[in-house]
Amino acid sequence: MFTLVPAWSSQEGATRVRELFAAMFGTQPRGVWSAPGRVNLIGEHTDYNGGLCLPIALDHRCYVALTPREDTRVRLVSAQGDGAIWEGDLAEATAGSVEGWAAYVVGVAWALREAGHDVPGFDGAVDSCVPFGAGLSSSASIEAAFAVALDDVARLGLADDDAGRSALAAACVRAENEMAGAATGGMDQAASLRAREGYALALDCLDGSVHHEPFDPAGYELLVVDTRAPHALNDGQYASRRAACEAAAAVLEVATLREWLDSSADVETAVASALSRLSEDTTRRRVRHVLTEIDRTRAAFTAMQAGDWGTFGLLMDASHASLRDDYEVTVRELDLAVEAARAAGAIGARMTGGGFGGSAVALVPSGTTAAVATAVVGAFTAAGLREPVFLTSRAAGSAG
Ligand code: ADP
Ligand code: MG
Repeated sequence: MFTLVPAWSSQEGATRVRELFAAMFGTQPRGVWSAPGRVNLIGEHTDYNGGLCLPIALDHRCYVALTPREDTRVRLVSAQGDGAIWEGDLAEATAGSVEGWAAYVVGVAWALREAGHDVPGFDGAVDSCVPFGAGLSSSASIEAAFAVALDDVARLGLADDDAGRSALAAACVRAENEMAGAATGGMDQAASLRAREGYALALDCLDGSVHHEPFDPAGYELLVVDTRAPHALNDGQYASRRAACEAAAAVLEVATLREWLDSSADVETAVASALSRLSEDTTRRRVRHVLTEIDRTRAAFTAMQAGDWGTFGLLMDASHASLRDDYEVTVRELDLAVEAARAAGAIGARMTGGGFGGSAVALVPSGTTAAVATAVVGAFTAAGLREPVFLTSRAAGSAG
């Protein structure tokens, strides 16, 4: 027995959020927009190091109903909130000025205005089937859904092509970093805004370029385990990892750790030469994770292109070990989910997202999803842990 978190159909999501909007604001919204959560297959804590990552967009989406206003006021309500309407004014927004979940929304409008776009105030309602704080990027999905909604009503035209979507993603990153106070990199927003249905998004965070690679793991399925171990990305743990990488890059005299890797003959040389110049044990392990993870992501991309899922799975396993031992961002629940999934037949499993709780992702032989999920539940129950929930997904489409 296990609990599957279903993805709403776009019709269901739109209906729910329209009804919420009408109930709260007494009129019909101008329109409905949505954006997906994401699961990262490999390449963790690499984005802010100019590295590589390989997410897919989930079928699970955040839905937004919105009507622009004549003034700069913002009124917001979320089905996942406390039922009250949040109210504020865009003209008064400054970095860090908005608290709570509204920061993710107002931050996007604020960042677009800061970038010179004429974005009006708005009334907005939100409803989402992306699990909250589960490492599946509900934060980027709410940002991206409002980004495309505002792009549309303000006729910015940014959502029409990838360059524009990259600009929308940049506004979402500013919202998350500077308004919500979460020091995350750019992977989540890129996945939500720039992914393509049926494809994994190979994102190069050094220059922001993307490559769409067909994601069709013949013979295998993705199983996502939401451990429901709570995580918080603005409590300093994430920021401290980021700061350690930046400090190490400064010692190594490179702008990003990616550049250190690329200027070395191979990953072994890059790690050895970096460690010889860094004295502090914790920093050395953080750097070793980042350098090897970027290299693993490159190898995983090659394996994906070749349809070599066995190799892909081994790289997922190695990624998890590195995140556990060197980067120290896993928790007991994540380690257990990965171990139990593997013991039940997964050919690869790893934590996904920022860590400190959240989700794991496993590649399991087709038709074994239920058996693996049941085994993971059994392991959690035996360990006295709260029961995890599960998601399955294909590579879904981006915000629209
Ligand atoms: P993750 O992105 O992994 O789900 P984060 O901690 O980055 O976790 O973001 C979760 C936060 O995003 C929530 O605490 C809330 O502030 C905001 N959020 C996401 N989706 C919604 C929603 N549907 N309604 C209100 N707030 C949301
Ligand atoms: Mg997030």
